[in-house]
Amino acid sequence: MKRKEFRKLISVDKAREIINNLHVLPQQEDSSLENAYGKILAEDIITEINVPPFPRAIMDGYAVRAEDTYDCSETEPVKLKMVGNIQAGSDEKFTVSAGEAVEIATGAPIPEGTNAVVMVEYTSEENGTVSIYSPVALGENIMKAGSDIRRGERVLKAGRKLGTREIGVLASVGKKDVSILKLKVGIISTGDELVRPGEKLTAGKIYDANSYTLYAGIQECGAFPLLYGIVKDNEVVMRKALETAVSGCELILTSGSTSAGSGDVMYRLIDEIGETLAHGVNIKPGKPVVIGIIKGVPIIGLPGNPTSALMIFNEFIVPLLRKALGDTKRLKKVEQGVMGANFRSEGRQQLLPVGLIRGKVYPADRGSGAITSLSGADGFIDIPSSTEFLEAGTPVEVTLFGEVEKPDLLIAGGFCPGIDVLEDLSGLHFRTLYKGSSGGFSAIASNTADIAGVNMPSRDPRGQDGILYNIPIIENMGLSGVVLVKGYKREVGLLVRQSSPISGLSDLPGKRLINRNLGAGTRALLDLKIEEFAAQKGISKKEFTNSIPGYSSGAKSEKAICEAVASEKAEVGLGIRNCIEINGLQFINLAEEEYDFLIRKEILETPEVLRFLEILNSREFASKLPEGLHVYERTGEIISFE
Ligand code: AMP
Ligand code: MG
Repeated sequence: MKRKEFRKLISVDKAREIINNLHVLPQQEDSSLENAYGKILAEDIITEINVPPFPRAIMDGYAVRAEDTYDCSETEPVKLKMVGNIQAGSDEKFTVSAGEAVEIATGAPIPEGTNAVVMVEYTSEENGTVSIYSPVALGENIMKAGSDIRRGERVLKAGRKLGTREIGVLASVGKKDVSILKLKVGIISTGDELVRPGEKLTAGKIYDANSYTLYAGIQECGAFPLLYGIVKDNEVVMRKALETAVSGCELILTSGSTSAGSGDVMYRLIDEIGETLAHGVNIKPGKPVVIGIIKGVPIIGLPGNPTSALMIFNEFIVPLLRKALGDTKRLKKVEQGVMGANFRSEGRQQLLPVGLIRGKVYPADRGSGAITSLSGADGFIDIPSSTEFLEAGTPVEVTLFGEVEKPDLLIAGGFCPGIDVLEDLSGLHFRTLYKGSSGGFSAIASNTADIAGVNMPSRDPRGQDGILYNIPIIENMGLSGVVLVKGYKREVGLLVRQSSPISGLSDLPGKRLINRNLGAGTRALLDLKIEEFAAQKGISKKEFTNSIPGYSSGAKSEKAICEAVASEKAEVGLGIRNCIEINGLQFINLAEEEYDFLIRKEILETPEVLRFLEILNSREFASKLPEGLHVYERTGEIISFE
């Protein structure tokens, strides 16, 4: 077996060259018009008819000889004899002579002998006589035969992607079936840990994301994806899957198992049953890429990490598919922006997923393996290996992902169902990035979010019952140029099953707790409550928390906490009242916390933020908040920090 450049990282340009030289040949197939959307036209479409096929009226009115109207005016109308009426679709034949007119509807064929249509607005009719008050020019209000599309004209060129307008053109020229390109791309996901969406997740498993992102991406290019399913990390089954795919498609994409780890057999297998053209591309993310050919069918092994897999797909596979399908249009949609935050790179060429909001570019990279780096990204920036630091304000070019719907507001901070209500009522599109209140404060500090939802309590004599929300954190961090908009209150408490013997903090020792993650305001509130409680009992806080198994656990969402309690993985959880309903749990109230919004001053006057605040202050919002959340007299109050 030949080994080419095996285990040696190749440059991005070299990888592109190898991939572009792969022979990927689509087949052709007839498709009905209904199924042709998004596909690539295989043939030039030369029309055999004129569109419209006959001269037709484009206004309701009277078909006349233009010369009969030349001398008329508003005060001296010309009177013509009405000799008939033509509706759209009519095949009635009329011959119209001088001094005559025919009433005609929009879309109806122009009768023999006439050469213009007077709009009905400039006429009046009485006893079979039409008065015309305004002259018309020759051909006025008539669409000539073939003026839209002329017989023999090439209306669509092979290689054109069929969108709504193209489908409309094909229908207009009478095409029922069209020949389209059929490029079958097989998809294989590898990994013992993968489970198909819809199936039950058992311990240690994750859902297969790559099969479906690739499926959608392939469709977006106008090719035909074929799912070959999830293949275990086992040489025998993997080989079988590859062989099946080889006989059924023109290109194979696999994901996972491409590193040189012990369980990673894909690259060895390709090398064994086919030929390896490259293994490893010097790019982040996505270093472990394998390019090979098995029995003449090109195969590209993408990294397993969903972000990496999709980035490599966009960067290398999309151009390959488009080229194979003869789609020669400019491949990339780019938009200019400026960095909204500093970013440190690491001296390797990097495709960094970014969000793009109001011209500001924010890194959306959430570390390897996070599918949310993609759903939170609008595109990516290509950072060359020579750039180590991108300062906020640096102009950059963003290559957009497919058809992205860009958000109006980027919201960070602690998870809250009230934010969904704000989004629904405002009609704005939010991108949410829940990283706890602490994450919210840092996101505002680093200018990587527009608004942060925060509920961080501190002991402070200025607050009610000695607890003040958010303000001490802003002061300690020295945040300036921000405002804190008071939001609403949330009932926080312990979540237990209906049969639970737990009725308050005193029952916690010895009971397995599922806590919120570090950095969550609600967790900090529990800490404060326990501190108070322990002080009353005359014990140290540490002593008390040490007696609660799971105290140091940290679930990211209320939902996960409810589920853990409902499924008896834990006896008690911490959360807000509203989420108990889903799982039929009981709620033991501990406190009411204040959930506020931290906003950078510079965007306070943007239409998006104004709308956000309008909704926050609205009655409708107050009435739509889920149980356990409520507005109060301070809702909407703005506290400014210079
Ligand atoms: P691998 O390249 O097989 O070592 O996979 C790298 C990482 O990506 C691992 O954490 C895998 O669990 C994950 N991964 C692999 N394939 C998929 C997939 N189809 N969907 C989601 N995650 C995946
Ligand atoms: Mg794997």
